[in-house]
Amino acid sequence: MSRVLVVEDEADVAQLVALGLERQGHEVKIADDGPEAMEIAVDWMPDLIVLDVRLPTMDGFEVCRRLRTLPHTSQSPILFLTAKAVLEDKLMGFKAGGDDYLTKPFDFPELVWRVRALLRRSHPLQPEYLRVGPLTLNCRTFEVQVGDKTQLLTQVEFDLLSHLMRHRGEVFSSDQLLQAVWGYPPGVGSPALVRVHIRNLRRKIEPDPSKPIWLQTVRGHGYTIRPEVTRP
Ligand code: CA
Repeated sequence: MSRVLVVEDEADVAQLVALGLERQGHEVKIADDGPEAMEIAVDWMPDLIVLDVRLPTMDGFEVCRRLRTLPHTSQSPILFLTAKAVLEDKLMGFKAGGDDYLTKPFDFPELVWRVRALLRRSHPLQPEYLRVGPLTLNCRTFEVQVGDKTQLLTQVEFDLLSHLMRHRGEVFSSDQLLQAVWGYPPGVGSPALVRVHIRNLRRKIEPDPSKPIWLQTVRGHGYTIRPEVTRP
């Protein structure tokens, strides 16, 4: 997963963003102002920066320009947070070297999707393939191969399968998957949503979807991708 630096002086907003991104599996650090952001950027080399425009001492645009001069963050995606959808702010943000912006107040799922899209576009550390047993997932083309059968996955199916494959052998409850894959807060979202996508995935990867051998249900606990077939 990725390292995300959140630069925001409003502690509650910063905490909310950090908590949510950590739930997505990212490592997160918070900087209260520009100088601190620069220090963390040099030492910690973040993969993505969420950068508020309104900051004390040095505004977000200036921080962005400076981050672009550092070797480690010259290419890292920068997502600006702006208080209002002011056209000048957006233009300034893009001119300073920002990649995208989000207007406050924002919906959390939107932040998650923007972050994910930016990382996917630029992330050099994302492996091209994930492999478990006979399953090979191509992270660039969203295709899964099982034996000689290749299937194209939808975005959600891809997110779900890649999460399970990255944590092979671990069992995830529906609620954990709703948080990790869909970005919902705990206790929100329906297990039926997970069930539907698990069923669709099984149709694409299982020899017999009614008797799954790879994407298994662990009764009372949740779902897992098994590295090996366990036979009774
Ligand atoms: Ca602020």
